[in-house]
Amino acid sequence: FIYLDYQATTPCDPRVVETMLPYFTDYFANSHSDHSFGQRANQAVETAREQVASLLGVLAQEIIFTSGATEANNIAIQGAVKYRLKQNHTARQVITVCTEHKSVLEVVNALAEWGIDVVTLPVNREGLVDHEALKEALQTPTLLVSIMAANNETSIIQPVNELAKIAHEYGAIFHCDMAQIIGKIDHLSLENIDLASLSGHKIYAPKGVGVLYVRRKPRVRLSPLFYGGYQERGIRSGTLPVPLIVGMGKACEIMCQEGKEEAQCLIYYKKLLIDGLKHNIVNIKINGSIKKSLPGSVNLHFPGVQALDILNRIPHLCLSTGSACTVSSLMPSYVLLAMGLSKEEALQSFRLSFGRMTTQAQVREVIDALSCAYHDIMAGR
Ligand code: PLP
Repeated sequence: FIYLDYQATTPCDPRVVETMLPYFTDYFANSHSDHSFGQRANQAVETAREQVASLLGVLAQEIIFTSGATEANNIAIQGAVKYRLKQNHTARQVITVCTEHKSVLEVVNALAEWGIDVVTLPVNREGLVDHEALKEALQTPTLLVSIMAANNETSIIQPVNELAKIAHEYGAIFHCDMAQIIGKIDHLSLENIDLASLSGHKIYAPKGVGVLYVRRKPRVRLSPLFYGGYQERGIRSGTLPVPLIVGMGKACEIMCQEGKEEAQCLIYYKKLLIDGLKHNIVNIKINGSIKKSLPGSVNLHFPGVQALDILNRIPHLCLSTGSACTVSSLMPSYVLLAMGLSKEEALQSFRLSFGRMTTQAQVREVIDALSCAYHDIMAGR
């Protein structure tokens, strides 16, 4: 098998697993216990917090551990809106974008129950939000704007710091789903971001752990979604999963040390793939801009051929037509439709992502396998 679905999830890095293991057995104490055993676990959590903060270039106190990006998105969006409503804020609007992950779109839609009006901005053919459209929507007083940094299907990167700046000019809080981008690009700045969500399993840490970044200066306040033992400053109560958090920290440390080099390698593999496919399949297209996308990921469009037909011919390549979290493979991607592709074009497209364990030999094999599958289908073989 060749794994080509790093946007859906990544394997745990063996170094991450190794670091986690003692915290399942030897140092299993509750990190909130006062005894020395508990303190040892607590120290490990705080080290992990530093490691995450260091990757993001923020303060350790700004890091809240969650079960993943879905939970972080929920706490950020619902928590910020709930807090501001309790403060008798007069704004009643939340703005997001139609190509967001479902863990943002569904949360925002659920806010209607609280009397919130939701504006869902469109994107252009490149998958980008129009700054003027955001400004126009912000003419109505707005509680929060939520826009992702990199899309999970197309890997298109939005200029979120610029968008956040606009949101601030109109007094809105800016939340950013950063699950796909963390550790993948250099010079990522959270300068204007108030709230950011991360997921462990996208960066070679285990599934079931994530992070919510909550800005301290100026302080962003959140109401909790559930109540309990006041862990994580009361924003996310519940006993901390120390081994998972240790794994998240280690994964961030590795990204800090190796992310830049890894990105260069993935950029090279992506170029190799695109050049190879373009050479073999002259009319192949790329959905969205290659320049404004994540290093190892691409969304490919094979005109005239159903994506599923291609994938069925290459079962040894682990690829998916869209987001693992939402779409049935038979449905056209809502992200591609929003970018202006027809239903037919969307069904002729799929995403492909390389990662840490990808080799150059695999990339070459992928080029050959995809090209053969395409030409066989076109030739009716
Ligand atoms: N946001 C984005 C952009 C994602 O790609 C994902 C994962 O698919 C999530 C949120 C959800 O993350 P998690 O699986 O950690 O809840």
